[in-house]
Amino acid sequence: MTKPTPTKVEMEKIVSLCQRRGFIFPGSEIYGGLSSCWDYGPLGVELKRNIKQAWWRAVVQERDDIVGLDASILMHPQTWEASGHLKGFTDPLVECKSCHLRWRVDDLAGDSCPSCGGELTEPRLFNLMFKTFMGPIEDEASVVYLRPETAQGMFVNFENVLDTTRKRLPFGIAQIGKAFRNEITTGNFIFRSREFEQMEIEFFVKPGSDKEWFDYWLEERFNWYVKLGIKKENLKLRQHMKRELAHYAKACYDIDYLFPMGWAELEGIANRGDFDLVQHAKYSGKSLDYFDEETKEHIIPYIIEPSAGVDRSALAFLCDAYDEELAEGELRVILHLHPTLAPIKVAVLPLSRREKLVALAKQIYADLRQSWMASYDDAQSIGRRYRRQDEIGTPFCLTVDFQSLEDEQVTIRERDTMNQIRLPIAELKRTLQAKLEGEDLFVLPPGGRIWKEGESV
Ligand code: ATP
Repeated sequence: MTKPTPTKVEMEKIVSLCQRRGFIFPGSEIYGGLSSCWDYGPLGVELKRNIKQAWWRAVVQERDDIVGLDASILMHPQTWEASGHLKGFTDPLVECKSCHLRWRVDDLAGDSCPSCGGELTEPRLFNLMFKTFMGPIEDEASVVYLRPETAQGMFVNFENVLDTTRKRLPFGIAQIGKAFRNEITTGNFIFRSREFEQMEIEFFVKPGSDKEWFDYWLEERFNWYVKLGIKKENLKLRQHMKRELAHYAKACYDIDYLFPMGWAELEGIANRGDFDLVQHAKYSGKSLDYFDEETKEHIIPYIIEPSAGVDRSALAFLCDAYDEELAEGELRVILHLHPTLAPIKVAVLPLSRREKLVALAKQIYADLRQSWMASYDDAQSIGRRYRRQDEIGTPFCLTVDFQSLEDEQVTIRERDTMNQIRLPIAELKRTLQAKLEGEDLFVLPPGGRIWKEGESV
């Protein structure tokens, strides 16, 4: 096998694969599309669900110091006054077309980006939030906003969560949900769009322990991507310069990924200090403090916020997994997706469409569907079918042949190595489970054996 392409994939290949195979379509495509809106197709929705599930598992299920929340997208308009979004987003701003930093026109000395020297957009009165109206009357009093981040829903529920869960510091709230930003510059496929999904944690800590927790979350979140298969060399931590820091942040790092267009933010991790709880207490008139049993003092917790994008993660996982190689003179496109993220875990491929074989294959398929997203394919040659599954990242293919009818055995083929084993159908589910959890293919179940390509049954 030879490698005809460098490992860094061009964005066009990802976009084309996504559209061709049903991962991601342009939004409202039959009407010519809607700028920077994307629809996730049958495979894309599974990938996204798997990413969210893996995140939820790591930050909520496997921990006892974080609980989940699903707050409303529409929030009381005062939320955005307290958070600074209303004021901060209505100044005349220009945006750098290359690094996307935004600048207040008043702060600019020249006509290029102070950070990278890039070209700037025309100044515009800017409110990044999408505005709409609540109820039948469209006047100023009924204005509400689509949230530009999920974070505020967690801040305003701080006391509710504290009272109902009896959590003590340090503890966190986690949330996954849609956010909307009327971005001036969008692009690079799903990297920056106007409607996107975030996975955010607000981790409340005692002031003074914030630095330690900040470092903890940097490492934790970096490792999450690595554990799910992203190559370490394609990730880096980037510290925000003082000038880049949001008004509320004491410190901020981005986890950057080497996307096809270059290094760019995948996730931001900020030490927000006590800004958010102080602001919401001030605007709501409610006390949002915490009684420290040890010191018998009321304190305002500091917040560490790891904020990730589902769509950007999906793009990073797809780019990192993409690979091409020449196998037997044919181009093989492979998505080396981690089994946890792969949309389809196993494909059932009967060697022929003969009735008896199909009946057995369909029975196996129905059984596997009880446990995993599976697919069934009996169209064209077995080689073609393998390629189709490789291209969408299916970790295992299962072939059912004539001998299967007699010996009740099937063959499992592994996507990345193309190695195969043959095993009794009775051992299938347990074996697949183990392989999906990372067991070596050649660790054989009872009655199993290594299978050589072209071996007669
Ligand atoms: P950028 O400057 O790259 O637009 P940001 O610094 O404004 O990002 P944050 O406010 O830190 O982003 O949001 C946290 C995360 O939410 C980002 O790391 C990213 O994964 C995701 N995100 C933010 N804006 C968008 C967007 N317009 N489209 C897709 N994902 C986004």
